[in-house]
Amino acid sequence: MKCPRCEGLMVSERLMDIHNSILSIEAWRCLNCGFLLDDVIAQHRERVHSEMTTMVHAHREAA
Ligand SMILES: [Zn+2]
Repeated sequence: MKCPRCEGLMVSERLMDIHNSILSIEAWRCLNCGFLLDDVIAQHRERVHSEMTTMVHAHREAA
């Protein structure tokens, strides 16, 4: 996963909704510039959920 802004290394994070701790969002943060991809994931979560889950899982195994 490359950062769309600087092509730096991105890591997956789980963001908690401050109003509802039950909800959480998988997001990507760029280690280089701090770019956060949570909005994009939230908008397309229904479409790419399974693909994104696979990517996060693979990334964590690699790390
Ligand atoms: Zn970046």
